[in-house]
Amino acid sequence: MPTDKLKVCMVAAEAYPYSKVGGLGDVVAALSSALLEEGIEVRVFTPFYAHVGRFPLEKRGELNQIWMGARRCEGAFYVDSSESTFVNYFIGNEEFFNRAGIYHCPGSGEEYLDNFERFNFLSLASLQTLNQMEWKPDVFHCHDWHAALLPAYLKLGQVSGFLQNTSTLFTIHNLAYQGIFAREKFFLTGLPEDSFYPASAFEHSGKLNMMKAGICYASLINTVSPQYSREIQTQEFGCGLDEVLRERRNDLYGVLNGIDTRVWDPQSDPLIFADFSADDISGKGINKTRLQQLSGLAERDVPLIGIISRLADQKGIDLFVAIKDELDRMDCQWIILGTGSKTYEDELERFARRNPHSFSVHLEFNDQLAHRIEAGSDIFLMPSRYEPCGLNQMYSMRYGTIPVVRHTGGLADTVQDFDPETRSGNGFKFYDYRPEALLEGIQKAVKTWKDKALWRQLVRNAMSTDFSWRRSALQYIDLYQKAVSLKSLSRPR
Ligand code: ADP
Repeated sequence: MPTDKLKVCMVAAEAYPYSKVGGLGDVVAALSSALLEEGIEVRVFTPFYAHVGRFPLEKRGELNQIWMGARRCEGAFYVDSSESTFVNYFIGNEEFFNRAGIYHCPGSGEEYLDNFERFNFLSLASLQTLNQMEWKPDVFHCHDWHAALLPAYLKLGQVSGFLQNTSTLFTIHNLAYQGIFAREKFFLTGLPEDSFYPASAFEHSGKLNMMKAGICYASLINTVSPQYSREIQTQEFGCGLDEVLRERRNDLYGVLNGIDTRVWDPQSDPLIFADFSADDISGKGINKTRLQQLSGLAERDVPLIGIISRLADQKGIDLFVAIKDELDRMDCQWIILGTGSKTYEDELERFARRNPHSFSVHLEFNDQLAHRIEAGSDIFLMPSRYEPCGLNQMYSMRYGTIPVVRHTGGLADTVQDFDPETRSGNGFKFYDYRPEALLEGIQKAVKTWKDKALWRQLVRNAMSTDFSWRRSALQYIDLYQKAVSLKSLSRPR
């Protein structure tokens, strides 16, 4: 099939710059742009959250035939009138999406209790919008549990004739978030009640599991790095679904995420203090000094070490917290940007209070500061317990900030240990999930930082690593084409 004819419909809970909680929003946006450049027709369906209202959205149609159980839900679909290259569709519904948070209530941090209804509405409304537009994609690209019921809807006849049996690719961005709900919610799908039974595609441990349904019903499945695609088939990383994944191992792929090299470009980034490149690194020093000033750190020539992260167990913050006394004794500075678990937030705040000239902690979501930390830091930490792909290590390398990462998932695929003998490699890795191993990784990086010539070479290596989306977009096109050709063969459990 010629790629210029391929039509792809993405359905996702996040799409940058409209909405972003983590990597999902970045990936959906950057992959779509890269596909567009390869001549693919892409349309992205995503919710019209309250904060999306700051974009000039134009209503394109009403939705009034969406049923959840016995209840008829109304909504509308919109496009961004200022966008000339892209067609993003925003699914609106007062009750489900017109609120401050994406998944959680910002005040309490609790997940919204109607997340099943909200994201089920996204899938159903996307299908209905396509129906009304009479646009038939060749492939639905469904992202994470939020869009995971869509393949089942297509297979089990929940849609009008012309969309039925359309091929699907289901991307797992993070297997730990599965969309698990009470079994009683199943009737809201309108799918035959007898499709829910123990060990069926929808059931796991007695509950409705959306991720499992996506894995079982999609034509093809992928995760966001080759290493993670192997890890999730093991009991250790499979989050209870490893057996289901092993059953579909012949349809399971790993495609490494890229990064948006226009949004993350140290040569033209409007959010940083001074531009720089691998050939002229002088601007990086200016970024460091300004970052120290802005964050109350002393203006000193010591390694400045950054973390930008959701403060979740996944991210290995417990390892960092466990070595606080050793960190205090190192002549380094630390800047941390993140939100999440209250325990970690409190712990990190204590660090900053104890030692304000060497610890700067920002408990907020701040895109501008994220760019400034990438540009101004020397070293970047990602001690993740597991990491499907990880974007920050790639942003770091592009900004000449050397990552210290744990060897897992996409971190293992993107970071090569620096070897001072051969001067090859672009970062530092540690293997065991132990605080001492993290400490050793940091110490290795700091020791190398002190040798200016060696460090310069390492920065050069990191900055010249290619993480552009084109390579990954071509692999996705390959998967879309495979999914289309498999259509008649795929067999749900
Ligand atoms: P995950 O998707 O698991 O959160 P990734 O590394 O794949 O991790 O992507 C995280 C993305 O979210 C990056 O773009 C990172 O810069 C951004 N991010 C995370 N926390 C914050 C924050 N507090 N402020 C600004 N950006 C953040």
